[in-house]
Amino acid sequence: MNIEEALKEPKKLTLEDKLFTVKYNPAKESHIKVDNEICKKCTTNRICLTICPAKVYELEEGHTEVHVSFENCLECGTCRVACTDNAIDWRCPQGGMGVCYRFG
Ligand code: SF4
Ligand code: SF4
Repeated sequence: MNIEEALKEPKKLTLEDKLFTVKYNPAKESHIKVDNEICKKCTTNRICLTICPAKVYELEEGHTEVHVSFENCLECGTCRVACTDNAIDWRCPQGGMGVCYRFG
């Protein structure tokens, strides 16, 4: 590497770049359950759809039920706090399953 290359600004990683480095060991069963009866009366304008960094929660067009892609969960806990209607039942994935971070 020459001096110009060494002095260059490091490439800024996008969230998608960073998520690409995360490894998962998905469990067979979802550790996230959503009560769609509560979701029908959501008071947060369906904040789960936008607040989750891994886009775990999705609402298909024409559907009213929230779809949960639990395999992508980063276990950050944000959705548990954000859904103030308490429609999300979030448990830690089974031992050894879930997301694996390189540094802990
Ligand atoms: S999970 Fe919570 S935030 Fe998401 S739609 Fe249901 S009630 Fe709203
Ligand atoms: S814990 Fe974090 S990554 Fe997992 S579903 Fe909730 S907001 Fe998304």
